[in-house]
Amino acid sequence: MNLPISIADVEAAAGRLAGVAVRTPVLTSPAADSLAGAQLFFKCENLQRIGAFKFRGAFNALSRLSAEARQHGVITYSSGNHAQAIALSAKLLGMPALIVMPADAPAVKIEATRSHGAEIVLYDRYAQDREALGRSLAEARQMTLIPPYDHTDVMAGQGTAALELFDAVGPLDALFVCVGGGGLISGCAVAAAARSPGCRVIGVEPLAGDDVRQSLARGERVRIAVPQTLADGAQTQSPGELTFAVIRERVSEIATVSDEALVQTMRWLAAHLKLVVEPTGCLAAAAAHAPRLRPQRLRRDPISPVGESVSS
Ligand SMILES: *Cc1c(COP(=O)(O)O)cnc(C)c1O
Repeated sequence: MNLPISIADVEAAAGRLAGVAVRTPVLTSPAADSLAGAQLFFKCENLQRIGAFKFRGAFNALSRLSAEARQHGVITYSSGNHAQAIALSAKLLGMPALIVMPADAPAVKIEATRSHGAEIVLYDRYAQDREALGRSLAEARQMTLIPPYDHTDVMAGQGTAALELFDAVGPLDALFVCVGGGGLISGCAVAAAARSPGCRVIGVEPLAGDDVRQSLARGERVRIAVPQTLADGAQTQSPGELTFAVIRERVSEIATVSDEALVQTMRWLAAHLKLVVEPTGCLAAAAAHAPRLRPQRLRRDPISPVGESVSS
């Protein structure tokens, strides 16, 4: 089958990231295991550079640009982590960066992006089309547009997180992955298929923004209204074209998590693992680590049988 990325792309990305990205720790917790009724491994990408896995995809993509493209610089649109990832990667590679950010993005994320030396343009996420804005600015300034998820180098870079996980702990029965536009899960699903054949790949979306679940059920990409959720990194309206091509072949099921469960999980991770994890980063743990956190409705949803399957 011809998917947009292969395991060779993920492995090549790992080579480019070696010595630049953090090989983040994998934590275990007896308390989490007993809640889940399974042995859990937490791949701590909150401890990655800029605080999220997004550095992997951004640095991989920018390090593949030609010298000429690097001179013109990079532009992107993002609600936060991809913006910081592009800004830091551009700084490391000596490139100019222009970031289109929603005006209501968390102030710390806007400030952090600025601190890496990037130029910032704010837009209204409920009224303006960020992709069109990004494309027109890219054209006007001859900058290379690196979108947050729908790009093969970004997808392959994100997949290195799962590659490291499997290399550290061996094959797994299931891999829970937070899903926004699907960059992380598409790279990770390709890594899982190669390193842990038979591993179920379970995407986890906010309940208010289940565009990927709807898309899988419909068999084509579905576009929803901008979801209102605490998980600001997953406020996507539809999966990407490239990411969806991987998701429909490699992802077993999609689970959804309420904002309330995300808050409970943030508290739980802080109390038990001493980890500060942003709401979006709690999606996978919320679905996986505590049966009591799993929304009841998952048990009746034919493409989200997470309630039955995790503890087996
Ligand atoms: C971007 C992001 C996501 C979603 O990733 P996609 O590649 O868009 O699916 C999830 N969690 C965090 C912390 C993020 O920054």
